Amino acid sequence: MSSTSATDLEEEEIRHILHAADSLVGRGGRTMLVKILKGSRDKKLLELGLNDNVAYGYYHVITMERITEKVDWMIRHQFLEIEHQGDMPVIVFTERGWIIQRDQAAGLLLRQWDQWVQGNELRQDLSYLKDRNRGMILLFLQKLAETGNTAYIPLLEQWAEVDYQKVKRAIRQVIDHLLSGKGGPLSLEDAPVDDVAEQLVVYPRTAERLKCWECGKRFDWPVEEQDFFRMKGWDPPKRCEPCREQRRRTKEGWGFF
Ligand SMILES: [Zn+2]
Repeated sequence: MSSTSATDLEEEEIRHILHAADSLVGRGGRTMLVKILKGSRDKKLLELGLNDNVAYGYYHVITMERITEKVDWMIRHQFLEIEHQGDMPVIVFTERGWIIQRDQAAGLLLRQWDQWVQGNELRQDLSYLKDRNRGMILLFLQKLAETGNTAYIPLLEQWAEVDYQKVKRAIRQVIDHLLSGKGGPLSLEDAPVDDVAEQLVVYPRTAERLKCWECGKRFDWPVEEQDFFRMKGWDPPKRCEPCREQRRRTKEGWGFF
């Protein structure tokens, strides 16, 4: 089983599925994610406002079954993962998925501001930016700084009125950068520095080398087994096959993996 099959997703698809997952994280599972991408009129989906998403209906022309395969591809390739909240399996980002999503969520905020600036709608309630993920907010501020566009300043000033000290300081740095006319990027303290393009590269999947907790030996974790574990939302096995076997024999019915 290799990832370089005809069913690999395009970068645009990966990006849209991550967008769809962003409004769902921790609140719903695979099925709900599939419904967002399908553009379903599901009652719960509408109640949760999940139709208010740039990826809503992205896959409206393909079947739920095909969309599910694509979502599962995202889980197998570690862009998303399944986590258990009590009995409920929910979709969450992996580190890789979040690095990509954080950056494109910041890009979406910038697009919204561009519309406001173009429409000269410069009086806005900017409290929606408060309590968002801090790394994402800092990326957004860096994107604003890099445009060199002073038209954002009235919005930045209103934002500074409603946010915390640390964010306020970063906002002031961006305003100073824009006023200086220096142009170019601005690097803010604590802003994530990731190579997003690198995270989007899909490599052929191979067995992972894991270390056994019991005997300390390294062992291969085959791709098929990784898929099985990931779809269940389980952590990787802690023990090598001989140690698992040993455990099975000594503790019937306990700690299979
Ligand atoms: Zn072992």
